Amino acid sequence: MLVIAAVLGRMAVLMVQDSQISRRRVLAFFAGGTLLWGWLGLACINGISWAIDGILTSLSGSGPRANAWRMFLLIFIHAVIIALGFATDWRWALMAGAFVAAMLCIAILHPSCQWLGPVKTHVESAEILITIDDGPDPHDTPKLLDLLDAHQVKAIFFMIGEKVRAHPELAREVIRRGHEIGNHTMTHPQASFWCAGPRRTRREIAECNQIIESITGVKPRCFRAPVGHRNGFTHPVTRELGLEVMAWNRRGYDAVEKDAAKVLARILPKLGAGDIVLLHEATPIAEEVLKGVLAHPAAQRRPDGDASA
Ligand SMILES: [Zn+2]
Repeated sequence: MLVIAAVLGRMAVLMVQDSQISRRRVLAFFAGGTLLWGWLGLACINGISWAIDGILTSLSGSGPRANAWRMFLLIFIHAVIIALGFATDWRWALMAGAFVAAMLCIAILHPSCQWLGPVKTHVESAEILITIDDGPDPHDTPKLLDLLDAHQVKAIFFMIGEKVRAHPELAREVIRRGHEIGNHTMTHPQASFWCAGPRRTRREIAECNQIIESITGVKPRCFRAPVGHRNGFTHPVTRELGLEVMAWNRRGYDAVEKDAAKVLARILPKLGAGDIVLLHEATPIAEEVLKGVLAHPAAQRRPDGDASA
């Protein structure tokens, strides 16, 4: 706009200097030109913002349509990079590709990164929220339930669909004791969920939802990706199914660490109100770790008995 105004201004000065043209005509030209260019400029700005708004709304929508948009964006970015290689130098294309890949890695592999869609990392509560992944497990689940009962604490169990199908009585018991069951995919494909396509992503999440609801009668409200690695197609599916994506902000690597004391040393020192703690079952130290977390003053009974608060 400033450039256009400057050009018009310069033209007006030149025209005034030309004695053949009257000042009135110059002023009329200047006013009319400004209006025209101003209107065109505003139309352009509105058009661009409308287009960006439309693209962002489509990308952040739910269901297969939003995933198709995400797939289109992914292909479009690659096409632009390849075109850049042909048009300029392949070194530039390689650098642009590496930059896009790095951004994608952060978005996908960082469990609390919000670039792909909203992720809950803490709760508005005076207490902590304990979440227990990878069950149900015939050895651990009953013991963990007893521990939680003894401390009158409610938790969210993020369960794997296949395990729920194998141990339906454990899933029902978790609900009967007042806890919540979250969706942790059907097969827990921890090595490949990050690169799953739209169909597989949908199947993993939707089938897990179905099995949990058919066995317990309760529809899951939360979703957690295997090892927290979402992919570009996760959020449109979770939105479609009414699931809130939940990560964590405290963890002790209890799924790989053999020493419970080391796990607790990572979790407890900073533990405070509103923290979401990530724990696992089906590990040799599950009971010991939960005991340690429950002994912390921040882990107290929720007065309303709501596990999600
Ligand atoms: Zn898991």
